[in-house]
Amino acid sequence: MSCLFCKIASGEIPSTAVYQDDLVYAFADINPKSPVHILVIPREHIGSLAEAVDEHRPLLGHLMWVAAEIARRKGLAKGYRVVVNSGDEGGQTVDHLHLHVMGGRQMTWPPG
Ligand code: AMP
Ligand code: ZN
Repeated sequence: MSCLFCKIASGEIPSTAVYQDDLVYAFADINPKSPVHILVIPREHIGSLAEAVDEHRPLLGHLMWVAAEIARRKGLAKGYRVVVNSGDEGGQTVDHLHLHVMGGRQMTWPPG
């Protein structure tokens, strides 16, 4: 498997872990765009949100719960943003489904 985020989830490529369980791994983004910028990924390789199928529905819910749990643990009581880029036009650059949990500054809308 040549996927960067699969290698990060398995520990083959180092990362700064923030949360982990049997289904999910979360780690610090290497190029943070906000004071808190965490990536949440399923341990299972799913190429993008567009590639998620019916059997992934519980996992997708769990990923969202983990995003909220990380925000709580990071003290983002004033608010935060959860982003999923899907596909080229969606701005996805790593082809393994991931949620961005971003906070610690005022977010603007709409994103670019
Ligand atoms: P996206 O553009 O939505 O696919 O987001 C990919 C994210 O992965 C970007 O925010 C990158 O900074 C981040 N990233 C790329 N390589 C690494 C890495 N080795 N460790 C942590 N984050 C990474
Ligand atoms: Zn992968």
